[in-house]
Amino acid sequence: MPEVYNWQLGRKMLYPYEERHPRWQFAFVFNTNRCIGCQTCSMACKSTWTFSKGQEYMWWNNVESKPYGGYPQFWDVKLLRMLDDVHQRANVEPSWDVAKRDGKERPYVTFEGLTIFEAARKRYGPEGHQPALGYLPTDAEWRAPNIYEDTSTGYKGGAFGLSTTGESLPEHKTWFFHLQRICNHCTYPGCLAACPRKAIYKRPEDGIVLIDQERCRGYKMCVEGCPYKKSMFRSTTRVSEKCVACYPRIEGRDPLSDGVPMETRCMTACVGKIRLQGLVRIAEDGSWAEDRYNPLYYLIKVDRVALPLYPQFGTEPNGFYIPPRWVPRPYLRQMFGPGVDEAIEKYVAPSRELLAVLQLFRTTQKIIFRYEIREGAKVYETTINGKPWAMYNDTIIGYDKAGREVVRVTVEEPVYERPAQHPNSI
Ligand code: SF4
Ligand code: SF4
Repeated sequence: MPEVYNWQLGRKMLYPYEERHPRWQFAFVFNTNRCIGCQTCSMACKSTWTFSKGQEYMWWNNVESKPYGGYPQFWDVKLLRMLDDVHQRANVEPSWDVAKRDGKERPYVTFEGLTIFEAARKRYGPEGHQPALGYLPTDAEWRAPNIYEDTSTGYKGGAFGLSTTGESLPEHKTWFFHLQRICNHCTYPGCLAACPRKAIYKRPEDGIVLIDQERCRGYKMCVEGCPYKKSMFRSTTRVSEKCVACYPRIEGRDPLSDGVPMETRCMTACVGKIRLQGLVRIAEDGSWAEDRYNPLYYLIKVDRVALPLYPQFGTEPNGFYIPPRWVPRPYLRQMFGPGVDEAIEKYVAPSRELLAVLQLFRTTQKIIFRYEIREGAKVYETTINGKPWAMYNDTIIGYDKAGREVVRVTVEEPVYERPAQHPNSI
């Protein structure tokens, strides 16, 4: 099996195909701290792509309440258990080697454990081993997009593999949080690896992963092989479907686009202003080309405040999350990897640049390719975690692919007073 480099694991790993990389990669950042679980994003996607017969159960975008919610139910816990089983049998203790941390290439240290591709080779079924360790959810597991909605846990540990080491202040004793999920348009997709028909492909122009509906024969191997369970089978057409990243909008073919790339429907509909999506430039060797003032490059590679979801699965997902501050750290480290503590520390007391970049979330439908910050006056001072912290009313300007200004916002939200017209005017 060929070896490919996975920067999120800080090492090479086995994958069924040789490395090949797109010129640009579809990527996004979700700020879990701000999500209100309103499901506007889920409805925006559903009303665009999955409103037809045979798609009733499909939610290409879903928002689940963690730790108990999941679509399909317990998708992550089930796969983590399978992985744990293989690790135990192979006598491997999965861990992250902190000593091997090294800048951009190994930002989250090195993962010493088995990915879904490597674990699959150690687990033989009746037909040999799978290309990617996975399972097929039952119909019942797909039936509720957010079962256990807003159900909190006291974090006593035990069930479903939650850590029993407890939490310390300032984390809450009782917690839940919303986890927003779409297809991660992975660099090394499990769905693509698992497809025996070679019906799944990654577009060279933007890294979007699509299923060729003509080639697909509905074997559901992609449903089994996607660790995030974002490939879905449609009973009316007998083929599989998945999130298409609203590719006509990414291509700049939306009537409102002025010919430049626009964000997907789920991103632009977000009420909580938690989503920022874009395209990052990929170098010849597959690494992210240095692009200091691309907001995604800054959040993920420079400030490292946004982290991949279950990087240990090994697909190199291109969706990144700012982890919730109030959730016990062992749970978050299992979900987002070893970068959690640094990310939360940075988010709680944001640098001047981070605070400005966070203002870009949901200010325009156009994809922002570059930002620029104009410095403003100091407007607030306080102490955070015993250290002095100041807020400046900086202005951030975002530019589209053509270099045109598409947004200009300040850190402090301006207040507009309308003249009173009636006694009860507000
Ligand atoms: S999230 Fe799943 S469906 Fe999407 S590219 Fe990755 S493996 Fe494929
Ligand atoms: S629209 Fe935004 S705030 Fe509402 S559930 Fe979706 S991600 Fe969360």
